[in-house]
Amino acid sequence: MKTTKKDFEYFKKCVRKYIKYYGLKRYKVFFNRRDIGDNFAKYNLSETSKTVLFSFTTDYNLNSPRAEYKDWIKGSAFHEVTHVLIARLGAIAGARYIGCDEIEEAEHDIIRTLENTLLQDLTKWREKNF
Ligand SMILES: [Zn+2]
Repeated sequence: MKTTKKDFEYFKKCVRKYIKYYGLKRYKVFFNRRDIGDNFAKYNLSETSKTVLFSFTTDYNLNSPRAEYKDWIKGSAFHEVTHVLIARLGAIAGARYIGCDEIEEAEHDIIRTLENTLLQDLTKWREKNF
């Protein structure tokens, strides 16, 4: 199924909301909508230029009805922004001699924890803000 320009605008809106929520002012934020393979959304961060690019898929095969797209978009915006939140952890860990898989695993552990705690708490906040 193709995503629409409206989906992309909603994704951008959600990403900006979460960035504001976390108070992430360190990076300049950019967006694009393109083919990103099996991903629904992804981020690309540069510590050197202090920029982060959020990419949103043009096409995605979700096993859920169109009506649930908004929830997917909100969820993936949260996921990608949370990557940015903890990206420094990866940079620090990368400076030592640790395998990439271990770092990625550690990052995902933190995200899953936040999804099961903070994201639950955000439900009420979303109702007011989205
Ligand atoms: Zn991830």
